[in-house]
Amino acid sequence: MKLLFEKSSAGRRGVELPELDVPRRANLLPRESLREELGLPELSEVDVVRHYTHLSRMNFGVDVGFYPLGSCTMKYNPKINEDISRFDGFTCLHPYSPAEVSQGSLRLMYELERYLSEIIGMDKFTLQPAAGAHGELTGLMLMKAYFENRGEKRTKILIPDSAHGTNPASSVIAGFETVEIKSGPRGGIDVKGLKDAMSGEIAGLMLTNPNTLGIFDENILEIADILHSNGSLFFCDGANANAILGVARPGDMGFDIIQLNLHKTFATPHGGGGPGSGPVGVKKPLVDFLPKPGVEKKGDFYYLDYDKPKSIGRVKAFYGNFNVMVKAYSYIRAMGSGGLRKVAENSVLNANYLLAKLKKHYHLPYDRTCMHEFVLSDQGMPNGVTTNDVAKRLLDYGFHAPTVYFPLIVHGAIMIEPTETESKETLDEFADAMIKIREEAEKDPDLLKSAPRNLPVSRLDAVKAAREPRLRWKKE
Ligand SMILES: *Cc1c(COP(=O)(O)O)cnc(C)c1O
Repeated sequence: MKLLFEKSSAGRRGVELPELDVPRRANLLPRESLREELGLPELSEVDVVRHYTHLSRMNFGVDVGFYPLGSCTMKYNPKINEDISRFDGFTCLHPYSPAEVSQGSLRLMYELERYLSEIIGMDKFTLQPAAGAHGELTGLMLMKAYFENRGEKRTKILIPDSAHGTNPASSVIAGFETVEIKSGPRGGIDVKGLKDAMSGEIAGLMLTNPNTLGIFDENILEIADILHSNGSLFFCDGANANAILGVARPGDMGFDIIQLNLHKTFATPHGGGGPGSGPVGVKKPLVDFLPKPGVEKKGDFYYLDYDKPKSIGRVKAFYGNFNVMVKAYSYIRAMGSGGLRKVAENSVLNANYLLAKLKKHYHLPYDRTCMHEFVLSDQGMPNGVTTNDVAKRLLDYGFHAPTVYFPLIVHGAIMIEPTETESKETLDEFADAMIKIREEAEKDPDLLKSAPRNLPVSRLDAVKAAREPRLRWKKE
């Protein structure tokens, strides 16, 4: 497909501007201050409309089809939350407006913070962090402040080998060393390994539960005890809370800190760098260290509280990504507590339905009841067919590929998260495609190795694209 620059034709116009009604003064600006010829494309309106409409049709999104990208929770987001987040009262409010004229927005933040605390079982949340990884970093900074305040020097964070890559990255940015903890044969934390790793240097453990294998750690209470009796803190990577909403609360499992991804669990379209929100919740002993300002209420009046002497300070300009908070608030209010529980029940049911259908055809390394997602492997695939080939072939069948080659503890991982928003019919169609691909791998492996065949581009050189990105078009 041609670029706009390549479609350009000298003198073609999409708009007519009125004649200049002031004298043209050619030499008004000194020559060196004049911009070079920009070389913008010259096109008609219909050229531009067709170009962008065509581009949008080449894209894949959750509004187009099933998007089972494990760990990313690409569920369908009801449009009503979008509509509400675009109310003028929200979008036109200046962030420096005084509290007297921002009562509605402040109340929304105050109540959202209370809802999240109740749903997750924490004493208080901050809404400032901009996304999941940023929430992790904020949580780790809170841990640091907590130990400094106690006069303790703890330098190490324990991280399971199944963890999301952002966990070790955030720990290192926060100034901790990381120590890897192995998973046991059932996919949870190896409890003995955890006990052996305990020492006065351990600040805490970061755990995703249910973890990236989609497995709920059955030893969660014992793990919390091991940490707490060592004086360490227990951090939950709560990026994907779909499986537990209204059923179980991380606060009751013994976690001291959690980050949530509102853009995954609480209905904001994401991916492609769209705005996120990564609120961080804590138990009482950490509340004083939360970022400032916080949103508080005196009588009926909502205000921003800067009077927090032990706070770690600001982690984001203004109060975070407000528009995402509006969507999360509207989603929680629309669902109600019964609706949120159904989210958990259906996300778990959908994942187990697919798991039951696919495990006869693909290797399942941890054969247990799963939570919101599960992980297959490429073990036993015939004719040298790889996970990558399966993922590419799925695109030909009109599905987005699952997450592949993560978590790292599973060889050739295929991580499938159907989410709660998909119907049985869609799940069946996806399972049929996966089963058909498994048969093709047996009978006609070239079909897979040369896939995708039906898309505008086939196999891209991902390594070259990452190492030598061409971010700018230049005239030859
Ligand atoms: C998505 C995800 C993150 C990171 O969240 P971002 O908003 O992309 O920064 C962290 N942990 C887990 C388990 C995730 O799935």
